[in-house]
Amino acid sequence: MSDRPDISAHLRRQVLVEAGHRCAIPSCRQTPVELIIPWAKCQKHEFENLIALCPTCHTRFDRGDIDKKSMEMYKQSLSVLNSRYGEYEQRVLQHFVDDSEAECINLPFGQNTEILLMYLLRDGLLIALPDKRPIQMSSRGREYMWYELTNKGKLFISQWKSAENIE
Ligand SMILES: [Zn+2]
Repeated sequence: MSDRPDISAHLRRQVLVEAGHRCAIPSCRQTPVELIIPWAKCQKHEFENLIALCPTCHTRFDRGDIDKKSMEMYKQSLSVLNSRYGEYEQRVLQHFVDDSEAECINLPFGQNTEILLMYLLRDGLLIALPDKRPIQMSSRGREYMWYELTNKGKLFISQWKSAENIE
């Protein structure tokens, strides 16, 4: 039994939203999630000390398979990603985490595409490959564009996955 008070509903929601209601470990991202206090024994629950993890990763953390320092970096990465990139951009990044062989992604191309990908393109993590022929994925004449992960993008993904600083 812990002496700590229950996590308030508000705080709980904040922590879940921060991780997109998925496990915060980039190579996992499973549901459902639990909330944990990964570092320091604190009397009070604070946002900075809470991270959303699935039961499997929670167990891995308790066993010491994921150390405290890594957990701290995963927590920090969530904040960097959320403040810098939109949901669509985060999903594109997640694609490269999930498929470590992938260097490119083929995305529907329209008026909004460059807006949706604006900060990944601007930060030089992703680059459009206008000369690469898109795969015809739709019979309805929808246009697709290839985007390639740059070297900077590859570094970003590998640092995020291995709990290094992505600032
Ligand atoms: Zn997990």
